[in-house]
Amino acid sequence: MILRHLFIFALLACAGTALGQPTRVRVDYKDGFDKTTDSMLTVAVRLIDSVVNSDLFAQKVKQASFKRNQNKTNEAILAMIRNGTAPGNPDHVIHLKVAVYNKYAGGGEVGVTVYDTKMKTYITRTFRGYIMANGAACYAAHLMHEYCHVMGFTHPKLKFLGHAKAKSVPYVIGDIVADILGVKCP
Ligand SMILES: [Zn+2]
Repeated sequence: MILRHLFIFALLACAGTALGQPTRVRVDYKDGFDKTTDSMLTVAVRLIDSVVNSDLFAQKVKQASFKRNQNKTNEAILAMIRNGTAPGNPDHVIHLKVAVYNKYAGGGEVGVTVYDTKMKTYITRTFRGYIMANGAACYAAHLMHEYCHVMGFTHPKLKFLGHAKAKSVPYVIGDIVADILGVKCP
C-alpha cells in the first residue's frame, strides 16, 4: 500500500504547481499515535502535500458544485486551502493538529474536529481503527475533510440530508482527495 502511495506521490509531484508558491503541510501537534499510525500520518501528510499542489486538484475544486459554501467562489475555496488560511494565518502552510483515539464512537464515525479551549485551537481526532482499516490515503482524505471544518465550513449531520451533506465543502474536498489518490473511503 505504502509503495503504491509513494508512486502516486511521485506522479503528482511531477504535475505540481508550476506557478505560485507551493503549499506545505505541517503537523503542529499530535497526540496518541503509536508507531504504525504515526507512520501512516507521515504518509498521509505527504499525500496531502502532493494532492493540494497538483493541477488536477485545482481543476476538480474549480469544477465542483458546492453547497454551504458561505458565498465563496470555487476559486476562493481553492485559495483558502492552498494559502493555509485556517486558522487565519495565510502562510501557505496547512497546519494540522491531530490525535487518534481508540474507542469507537459508533454510527460509522471516522473522527471529529473539536475546539480545545485550553490549547485555543482545533484538534482533529480520528478513530485509530478507521486509519488501520482504510489506510493512509483515506486518512489523508479525512484530514482534508476535517481541515475544511477548521476553515469554517459545515455540513448537516442527519442522514436524510444526504444530498446537502455530499455537496458540502468538507465532503466534496474529502472526496476529491480520495478520488485523486484512487481510493474509495467509507
Ligand atoms: Zn465533517
